[in-house]
Amino acid sequence: TPVPDYLAEVADACAPSTGGELASYIPELTRVDPRYFGLAMATVDGSIYSVGDAEVEFTMQSISKAFVYGLALRDRGMRAVLEKVDVEPSGDPFDGLSFEASTGRPRNPMINAGAITAHTLVGKEGIDADERFDLIHRLLCDLAGRELRVDDEVWQSEVRTSDRNLAIAHMLRSKGVITDPAEEVISAYARQCAVLVTARDLAVMAATLANGGVQPVTGKRVFSGAQVRQLLSVMLTCGMYDSAGDWVSAVGIPAKSGVGGGILGALPSQLGIATFSPRLDAHGNSVRGIQTFERLTADMRLHLMEVA
Ligand code: GLN
Repeated sequence: TPVPDYLAEVADACAPSTGGELASYIPELTRVDPRYFGLAMATVDGSIYSVGDAEVEFTMQSISKAFVYGLALRDRGMRAVLEKVDVEPSGDPFDGLSFEASTGRPRNPMINAGAITAHTLVGKEGIDADERFDLIHRLLCDLAGRELRVDDEVWQSEVRTSDRNLAIAHMLRSKGVITDPAEEVISAYARQCAVLVTARDLAVMAATLANGGVQPVTGKRVFSGAQVRQLLSVMLTCGMYDSAGDWVSAVGIPAKSGVGGGILGALPSQLGIATFSPRLDAHGNSVRGIQTFERLTADMRLHLMEVA
């Protein structure tokens, strides 16, 4: 079957799924149409296929965490980043208070505590929140291969309701893991989460990881091979929060989800895959997205532990 026909078949098969709920802790996210369903795939040689609502924009949310971690690695080096953020799966929810007891070091960069810390490691020490956001925005645009916009309503909506992330930032500050003012960090972090992408963008961004850090359409090198390996390892073990184990056993490729309804997965040396479907399970992962990934990796035998 040609790829577009195959993707349409998978989308049809998963379309009836209506399980899950829209994220509501960021009020503005409840305004999204829950029926959206997009699916896209990009290969490491730059071919892109998509079906359904793959051109509809939605906020990246936690998907940004993976790339910002990569940027922190790029800007500060592996050792400096590991000193501040561990790489242990925590089994905690995305907004859990998940720190090493003695040092206050967050367990991993995919939960908020670690992601907020990684955010502050972008760029040179001492830059301000706007400069840091600009570097992150530039990175995300390089990965997508186009100019991405921010959803200011979602950004401000999250800023107004960010008590929990502020609490996490204050805990990080209390141990000296971050040093910038909590309000500034959380505002810029929420702005990073509010960058708008499509499923098609996410597939290309994932394909950049699958391609060892070179954007397959523009040819631009965004990450080194070593940075990509680190990033994919953390996505595999921690990308789906407290359902990372379920995901790895059922789907078996490094992935990252966001409460905007996106999931991206990267199969090293081969493919980037992305889904957009806004209804979430209790972990904050897209229900229909998971179902679609399960179907795709089963059909195409993409699971990394598949024995030929
Ligand atoms: N902006 C969200 C937060 O920090 C991202 C969470 C997510 O996508 N799981 O709470």
